[in-house]
Amino acid sequence: MSTWQDKIRQVVPYVPGEQPQIKDIIKLNTNECPYPPSPQVKKAIAEYDESQLRKYPSFACRELKAALRKTYPVTDDMLFLGNGSDEVLALCFLTFFNSDKPVLFPDITYSFYDVWCDLYNIKYKTVPVNDKFEIVPQDYFGENGGIVIANPNAPTSICMPLESIEEILRHNRDVIVIVDEAYIDFGGVSAVSLLDRYDNLAVVQTFSKSRALAGIRVGYAMAGKPLIDALEAVKNSFNSYTLNSLSQAAAAAAANDTKYWQECCGKIKATRTRLIGELSALGFDTLPSSANFIFTTNKDINAAELFEYLRSKGVIVRYFNKPRISGYLRISIGTDAETDRLVQEIKAFLGK
Ligand SMILES: *Cc1c(COP(=O)(O)O)cnc(C)c1O
Repeated sequence: MSTWQDKIRQVVPYVPGEQPQIKDIIKLNTNECPYPPSPQVKKAIAEYDESQLRKYPSFACRELKAALRKTYPVTDDMLFLGNGSDEVLALCFLTFFNSDKPVLFPDITYSFYDVWCDLYNIKYKTVPVNDKFEIVPQDYFGENGGIVIANPNAPTSICMPLESIEEILRHNRDVIVIVDEAYIDFGGVSAVSLLDRYDNLAVVQTFSKSRALAGIRVGYAMAGKPLIDALEAVKNSFNSYTLNSLSQAAAAAAANDTKYWQECCGKIKATRTRLIGELSALGFDTLPSSANFIFTTNKDINAAELFEYLRSKGVIVRYFNKPRISGYLRISIGTDAETDRLVQEIKAFLGK
């Protein structure tokens, strides 16, 4: 007998890091910025005229696009904004990956990519990263239906040089290559400079990590006008107003304050260097990080046990019980005080 249960869509969703509501916790599991957003964001929200909420938000997002143009060599028609880069990426998958051939991405990468492929019935094939967890450009030269690379990659934290991204683009002129640059501000070189030479490139970035605005949900794609037009058409077949006006104002204020942003990234990089050094002295091997998190292992300990121990002490990091990486922990870079607590708890676990 047929039931409504047979007719509803069943999917296996992406599982984000937990957001525990426990007080005094040290939260190093979702790569949020440990510092508050720019003081200009506070000002923009305080000065926001709430009578504007009566109206639908601006489509054109002129103020926010103008702020982004201060940093990136793009024109307004090369920018597509959305409600977090997860939404922008999902719309990119829906718009750009429309082939019988499989889309390629690394076996170890952001675990939303296979979820979107399944959601949209996009064929995909994962490409193993090498023994050092590096992405090998040559592995992406064969026939495919599109490519998505997180650079720096997550959870490995490793960044590919721009030349390697360009090599992939050069060998894939007839498909779209998406470069997900959620962590690019912590040490990598953005592929945005390649946009004028590669009309098949889409660069996606977010305000959630380096701009300390995960709660405001703003992300964007930068690409040539034809790709942006295609994205707009798909978005407008789904929800015309993905980006609310208050978020636009707050994000514009953050994007205009480039000095604060660079200071934040600098502090995070300094803390990262210190943390890697202190962990090294405790026997940990940490992959070379260009992100606001590290991926670290210690052959003498069980990563799952350390994860649980830290959790019991109120320090939350991320553990992936998955092939190849079950011996590793992903730890977001916190403030210096949080880092001290983390190291102290790890020492306690090791009996030191
Ligand atoms: C955090 C993250 C994103 C998305 O973040 P949003 O908050 O949706 O902008 C995208 N890609 C990677 C690899 C990430 O780690």
